[in-house]
Amino acid sequence: MYDVKGNLKQVLHHLPEGVKLVAISKYHPKEYIEAAYAEGQRIFGESHEQELRQKHSELPSDIRWHFIGHLQTNKVKYIVPYISMIEAVDSMKLLREIDKQAAKCGRTIDVLLELHIAQEETKYGLTPDDCRRLLDEGEWRLLNHVRICGLMMMASNTDDDALIASEFDTAAKLFDELKERFFADCDYFCERSWGMSSDYLVAVAHKSTMVRIGTTIFGPRVY
Ligand SMILES: *Cc1c(COP(=O)(O)O)cnc(C)c1O
Repeated sequence: MYDVKGNLKQVLHHLPEGVKLVAISKYHPKEYIEAAYAEGQRIFGESHEQELRQKHSELPSDIRWHFIGHLQTNKVKYIVPYISMIEAVDSMKLLREIDKQAAKCGRTIDVLLELHIAQEETKYGLTPDDCRRLLDEGEWRLLNHVRICGLMMMASNTDDDALIASEFDTAAKLFDELKERFFADCDYFCERSWGMSSDYLVAVAHKSTMVRIGTTIFGPRVY
């Protein structure tokens, strides 16, 4: 088996105090999660509802699961009873559905807004202007069963560390702006989720509070 223990220790060694590690376990068997769990890791990230459902049913109940993938509105009801954070909210429609399903089970769900800054074309994520618009419109204030806790983003997939750093800086500036305009009184609006296996050292040097690391801990994924 891949040296999950050793890799996890290495990663933790590189993270500054206070930066949270989300161990991204998608496509990896539950034995890998158990190995990391035995080392004390409690936050794991998954991107597919069915795979998450299976793992959630088989693994310890004090694991805090983060949903990091694109979430279809018709899947929201399946994860809301137990999910700890939904990291990739990119529409008002999805936010509304999370609120509705959370109300039904008497929970309040922590979410992040997914930003799209990277150069790659993708259908997902909010541009900075989309993000401002969503918050300006104000409907989110009426949703009592979701808490917007910050931003998540993926940098461009490139070796150019300067470009990656500039994208993290753009995200951090937007975070500060939104904090001041909309969340000044909300202590819970405090998360900047950026940094993956290839760029987490750059990310923690650029205001990340939460890194999402898969490959470096668990090895290459077999799809
Ligand atoms: C898969 C994934 C990660 C982890 O990527 P690694 O390169 O394996 O560390 C992080 N964030 C998101 C949104 C992902 O889908």
